[in-house]
Amino acid sequence: MLLTPGPTPVPEFVRKAMADITIHHRTPEFEKIFKETRELLLEIFDMPEAVMLASSGTGAMEACVTNLTCKKALTINSGKFGERFGKICKSFDIDFVEIKSEWNTPVCVDTVIDTIKNDSDIDAIFIQLCESAGGLRHPVEQIAAEVKKINPNIMIVADGITAIGVEKVDTSNLDAVITGSQKAFMLPPGLAMIGLSNAAVAKIETNAKGYYFNLSTEIKKQKENTTAWTAATTLIIGLKEILSHIKNNGGFEALYENTALRASATREALKAITCEIYPQTPANAMTTIYTEHAPAIRKILKTKYNVNIAGGQDHIKNLIFRINHMGLVEDFEASWVVNAVELAMDELGLREFDGTANKVFAQNMFKGK
Ligand SMILES: *Cc1c(COP(=O)(O)O)cnc(C)c1O
Repeated sequence: MLLTPGPTPVPEFVRKAMADITIHHRTPEFEKIFKETRELLLEIFDMPEAVMLASSGTGAMEACVTNLTCKKALTINSGKFGERFGKICKSFDIDFVEIKSEWNTPVCVDTVIDTIKNDSDIDAIFIQLCESAGGLRHPVEQIAAEVKKINPNIMIVADGITAIGVEKVDTSNLDAVITGSQKAFMLPPGLAMIGLSNAAVAKIETNAKGYYFNLSTEIKKQKENTTAWTAATTLIIGLKEILSHIKNNGGFEALYENTALRASATREALKAITCEIYPQTPANAMTTIYTEHAPAIRKILKTKYNVNIAGGQDHIKNLIFRINHMGLVEDFEASWVVNAVELAMDELGLREFDGTANKVFAQNMFKGK
């Protein structure tokens, strides 16, 4: 059972759709598939423009930094992925300031506002909706609304790789929203997507940079249902399959509701067996537990109960474990995981097993439905 917060398992119907012969990307057949996929993407982003890039999510992060910053970037670093925006700026010699916090701490809205008020060079803000390093939800929509009141020309770029497809994100004040194939969309890695506002498209037209990740070239081509370079045809076919499946089986809203309920039932179940939730503001993409026994618990889960969950990185590598909620996860899978954690804690002598986790999970999951 693969329950890591990316990569997530690829459903059988998607694997089957991607197993067909590879079609040429410059054909009416593929253009039709591209157009349908693009329309589904525009719907899920709820934004006027979107592009698909053949790269992992980091490629889209890089494209947004280079194409949407003219003078100076503000990057929000509460974890590995926020830190990455700063590293990208550095590698391109783009001037940037960073607001750094511990990995369990969301950025403070007032700190962001003070920073942009005191530095008029800042013309783009880069932040994660969910910072996957600790499973943390940043107050992105609030920041975006406040910043736009002060200066509507500042671009708000949100990395939504573990948020789009997990929850309904209010994109009305966001200029670019990034996502990738291997998390909530349950595809193999290799496809990145960016939703764009009209203001972002306008800025890109005058500021486009780079060659492969030149977003102006991509927007021009993708409006015509083709791509600048060879499209990741197989992954785009997979994306169309998963998005239309979700749309035709209850819709995106039902998926968001189910994910939120499963995430809160998991948190309640683990809290009931004395687990400590790591982030101050947990996102629904994953549940992150803080414990020095994380490596031992993960090992027992993998070897005895056939569940693969993730650990941490860097300074909290051995201090957290993360359980995925993204994608089409069955209720019984989540229920099995909390049960397995309780059994592992019993084996480690931390707490005697009495079935509390599973009971609390079921009460929250099914009474809530
Ligand atoms: C996974 C992830 C990325 C992208 O990483 P890639 O390995 O380049 O796909 C970026 N941001 C967040 C928040 C992520 O979880």
